[in-house]
Amino acid sequence: MHAHTAEDEDFLTGRSGNFARKLEGIENLLALRSEGYLPHNVSLNAVINTRNYRSMPEYAAFYLRMGINDVRFNMIRTDACPDRGEELTPRFKDLSPEITRAVAANESRLRMHMSFGDLPLCVYPWEILENPVLAARVVGEARDLETWVSVFTAPKDLDTEADRFNWSAKKRSALKLQPEDPCSRCLRTDACEGVWRSYHGLYGGSELGPLR
Ligand code: SF4
Repeated sequence: MHAHTAEDEDFLTGRSGNFARKLEGIENLLALRSEGYLPHNVSLNAVINTRNYRSMPEYAAFYLRMGINDVRFNMIRTDACPDRGEELTPRFKDLSPEITRAVAANESRLRMHMSFGDLPLCVYPWEILENPVLAARVVGEARDLETWVSVFTAPKDLDTEADRFNWSAKKRSALKLQPEDPCSRCLRTDACEGVWRSYHGLYGGSELGPLR
């Protein structure tokens, strides 16, 4: 669920009426949860993009009112739609203060499980990085379980190959990079997965900075 308004959700997913249908789906899941069928909770995952990155606290508050208490914001990657990369990808320098605003709103009022993913560590505001307890809650990769992905194929999937891979390893080796400048001077290259190649192709690495 990428937005909390019909206008943005329908635009981002390219389907008119999608927001209403998805809300109905969430309500169904919450009803199942209240009956005890979903003991591991219902969590929403939004891809951070230019239409939603300035309204993350409002997004979280909207779904909290529905009964959701766990949201994850993952940085967009546009390998599949490179022609729309600039239109949809916010700059890190603009995103970083919005993360501060979202985390502050959550810590002071919302009190949900709120985490972020697929962001270089150095993009997080220092208020988060210098607080290990807060960082462990907010930096998604610090709390994610190891994930294996299996790709199955059907006869019509002529362009797809069956595959099985570790998602984190695949991200590091094929989808992200740690540019020589500045990552060769960073002390946290082990903990950081780097930056999406699609982001680096658009905007370069000038917003990154080595962590000491
Ligand atoms: S400088 Fe590179 S390795 Fe260090 S946090 Fe930033 S992106 Fe990650």
